[in-house]
Amino acid sequence: MNRAAPGDPVPGTVHLVGAGPGAADLLTLRAVRLLGEADVVFHDALVDESVLALAPQARRVPVGKRCGRLHTAQRFINRQLIEAARRYRVVVRLKGGDPLVFGRAQEEIDELQSAGITVRVVPGVTAACAAAAELARSLTVRGSARNVLLLTPRTGEGEATHPWARAAAAADTLALYMASRDATSVAQALVDAGVPRHRPAVLVENASRPDARTLHAPLHAIGSAAEALGDGPALLLVGEPFAVAPQRSAEYAAPAQPDATRPVSQAFGAPG
Ligand code: SAH
Repeated sequence: MNRAAPGDPVPGTVHLVGAGPGAADLLTLRAVRLLGEADVVFHDALVDESVLALAPQARRVPVGKRCGRLHTAQRFINRQLIEAARRYRVVVRLKGGDPLVFGRAQEEIDELQSAGITVRVVPGVTAACAAAAELARSLTVRGSARNVLLLTPRTGEGEATHPWARAAAAADTLALYMASRDATSVAQALVDAGVPRHRPAVLVENASRPDARTLHAPLHAIGSAAEALGDGPALLLVGEPFAVAPQRSAEYAAPAQPDATRPVSQAFGAPG
């Protein structure tokens, strides 16, 4: 442990580290180095055990939604981080994907900085990139998909509702985080806002993990496709890049013997 000496005037640094989408070998070299140096690691429930294993010397503090109870209140997490930075030299706050994408990182950064604590951020692979990689589909396509909108339809407690579907209707490629459980109502909101109902959509569950699976359907049918999802995190992608290529549709229609070691792909609904 690199505990600061009593009365040490220099507090530790809090590193907000991107844990990526799950696979430990998608961590950055910097993330791996910091995990190896960490005195304490505060981690989200989505962070894989194989990633935490890179910090065997560190005290582990699980925080976040899926860790016990309902969730650890953000204010309590902030206070714990401040206290840890006063006791330890290297504090790692490990967040799934990229810390600055739907990670409530700004609240932590602001609180830490106003307490005089140095904050550093280490980027990670965000779910949209991991899901696109899983599909071998580019989020942007020269001449046809010029923009990507990272969006969540989810509104937190006490947060005003947001006309998210209006902005979404203008995007070429949509990456919807925290949307898979409500895929039916999300898809309906998009169609109501003017997104063509047959636009290709795909749910990617557990991107980058051995149990990854992809469920393709036209937007209007993606809600029924979502019923086949398991408990893993899933991203909803909508846009022309995710049209199922003809040779692959045949493969989906008549899947070979299931192989538990390979990612699963399925197509739902009539294609056009
Ligand atoms: N900071 C994270 C996002 C946190 S919000 C990032 O940059 O990826 C949590 C949401 O991210 C989940 O509800 C899901 O929509 C998505 N997600 C996270 N990991 C994922 C994975 N391995 N596969 C698919 N979606 C994932």
